[in-house]
Amino acid sequence: MRGMKREAEDSRSRAKTKNKNKTKNKTKNKTETKTEAEIETAGISIDPRALEVCVRCGTCRSVCPAFEVLGWESRNTRGRIMVAKALGEGLTPDASVLESLNTCTTCGICAASCPAGANPPEIVQEARKGLVSQGIMTEAQAGFRTKVAGSGNTFGEAGERLAWLSDAGAIKEKAEAVYFVGCLDSYRYPEVAAKTFRILKLFGVSLLREERCCGSPLIRTGSSAGKVMEENLRQIREMGAKTVVTGCAGCLSTLKRYYPPEFEVVSVPEFLAGRLSELGPRRLDLTVTYHDPCHLGRHAGVYDPPRNVIKAICRLVEMNRSREDARCCGGGGGVRAGYPDLSLQIAKLRLQDVPDGVDAIVSCCPLCIRNLSDAGAGAGAGIEVIDLIDLVARAIDPA
Ligand code: SF4
Ligand code: SF4
Repeated sequence: MRGMKREAEDSRSRAKTKNKNKTKNKTKNKTETKTEAEIETAGISIDPRALEVCVRCGTCRSVCPAFEVLGWESRNTRGRIMVAKALGEGLTPDASVLESLNTCTTCGICAASCPAGANPPEIVQEARKGLVSQGIMTEAQAGFRTKVAGSGNTFGEAGERLAWLSDAGAIKEKAEAVYFVGCLDSYRYPEVAAKTFRILKLFGVSLLREERCCGSPLIRTGSSAGKVMEENLRQIREMGAKTVVTGCAGCLSTLKRYYPPEFEVVSVPEFLAGRLSELGPRRLDLTVTYHDPCHLGRHAGVYDPPRNVIKAICRLVEMNRSREDARCCGGGGGVRAGYPDLSLQIAKLRLQDVPDGVDAIVSCCPLCIRNLSDAGAGAGAGIEVIDLIDLVARAIDPA
């Protein structure tokens, strides 16, 4: 329960801070200097050390994908840290502040390249949380809350989450490992969910009967995800699963970081890379490139397993920027929902990193696949973007 406990503690701390703010605002004067152990930022405490680690050098300006498109200081990493700090010093959270904070994809490339060791996406997420706790949010943020609360999924879909499953009898009462599908594969890429489960089932992996959104879109955009997390956790416990396998990078980092450490969380590429000899894929005459999802690569450190699976099947040519240096697809952090044009422009920049002569872009995250596909289709590039599981299924299915 560590993740949820932390949320409960956060919520208590938010309430306390809010009350403190009420008292403080009565006595506040313009010459007040912040000497408290914590700077109170819009109803939530951000450790001042996290803010002060940033020495304003601007290195992150050269890597922030949102800044690359938008070009404003307040829309880059350094500017966002300044905005978070200013909120604690009385800045009014207007539309421009919301746009500054919410155009961050939480890609983490700024953190990876920061010489001072700052963690800007963490600060952005905390600042969003502070504003949301006061009811200050964009329509897209509010939309995630309404949809997940009403339907248990990020799209507000009323349909069956397991509609893609042809044999409900395949779900066991007890299993050592479960496949966590995620909202995107459940509702937008059901064929990927079906292929993934068909392969995972060979190794005794089962499914949750009533899986809910993992909570990622809510947490990234500043809301609490306690209810859906509890529902997922209850089922994982009832099943007795010690391993949760997922093919979604966003689910992976959420399950790893915000759920209690009662089970191991493994990505599909890690799971498959360890079972190549049992799978016995045949060689395909294809050349592909690989897009590192931010939440699988920089956030979870999974770089080699997907490459090992690809190289067991076909030729791999790296993108111009890869691994820790990979550009974001533009879809994460609520940006695809809140700022679709920005999201697609970032994806189009990512497509410029695709080397010539490849047959497909392979990735391991449905959000990246969706965003890059939409950007590719828009640009008329006509390059196929496929899930790693598509490649594996082609290589193990009869020719
Ligand atoms: S976040 Fe890091 S790279 Fe960016 S301005 Fe601050 S210290 Fe420099
Ligand atoms: S996490 Fe990515 S989008 Fe957000 S500030 Fe850092 S580089 Fe920019």
